[in-house]
Amino acid sequence: MIVCSRCGHEVEETAWKCVCGGPVEVLEEQQFDVRELKGSSLWRYQPYLGTEKRVSFDEGHTPFVFIDNCYYKLDFFFPTGSFKDRGSTVMMSVLHRHNIPRIVEDSSGNAGASIAAYAARAGITAEIYVPAYASQGKVFQIEAFGADMRKVEGTREDTRKEALKRAETVYYASHQWNPWFLQGMKTIAYEIGEQLDWDVPDVVVVPVGSGSLYYGAYLGFKHLYESDVIERIPNLVGVQPEVCSPVYNALYEKERTCEKSVAEGLLVEHPPRLQEILKIVRQNGELVVVSEKEIAEGLKKAVSLGLFIEPTSASVMAALRKVDPSKSRAAVLTGSGLKATREISDILNKRM
Ligand SMILES: [Zn+2]
Repeated sequence: MIVCSRCGHEVEETAWKCVCGGPVEVLEEQQFDVRELKGSSLWRYQPYLGTEKRVSFDEGHTPFVFIDNCYYKLDFFFPTGSFKDRGSTVMMSVLHRHNIPRIVEDSSGNAGASIAAYAARAGITAEIYVPAYASQGKVFQIEAFGADMRKVEGTREDTRKEALKRAETVYYASHQWNPWFLQGMKTIAYEIGEQLDWDVPDVVVVPVGSGSLYYGAYLGFKHLYESDVIERIPNLVGVQPEVCSPVYNALYEKERTCEKSVAEGLLVEHPPRLQEILKIVRQNGELVVVSEKEIAEGLKKAVSLGLFIEPTSASVMAALRKVDPSKSRAAVLTGSGLKATREISDILNKRM
């Protein structure tokens, strides 16, 4: 059953929002049972994803390594080089089942590249709207997968508005809005839980752009907790860049607009699930902001450990420095450095 997060109204399976304008999500109806898990990909959790596996590269169960007193979830080890594949495999499986031939999506790059790849796998035509400033590596990836790519001048918000106009006639497969994309994000919690033999860390640090990973992680941990698989829900620390931090601003009632950041994946001015995310931050989490300088330092730290991640993911490395080291910590590294080699080179060679 898919319901509105705001008014509780039930919607149909392919609806991406409620008539009231609120975001929708899939209700969890089954107890999580570790004895039911089969296979080695994230589709191991199929009974809790609410759909069958149709469009997949057997992705997921990314490495989880302990380095320097912290667990790192290497989510840049996905087929398209980012964690977005968690959402794409589940969402595209549903759209394929409904015979949807054409979709539109807007993205700063990673989600667009991911959805373009899964659309190619499914034989669905994808129109991807990207901001003109997006990293060349991501833009090239989207084009290579044969998507119909539209570059939009201006801000990330301008790109979103253009895609929304197109969504009046073409199915809007938005990674920010789609409830099935969010379903896929829950698997981050299932994997971290299982990889630690269901003894979850005190703190999990996650980057927050639209917040689908943050909210999905919470839903996954909550499901495990309510099914008595884990003993507590970890404290979820969300990270935003200082120059674009709408969740942080809403939390502390600050009025600030979004500016450009090296963490290009986090420039989401209006996260659709802002209210839901705020609720979790207040109940079960924390939100930290990091400066551009701290992100650059975080990137240097990551490469010194042998982790080649994109600047967006380096925000998590920066945030880790603000988390009590006496706690057990896990951090999710979401995107590959191979997508942004020029930007990384500029940072490491101090050209910015
Ligand atoms: Zn509603």
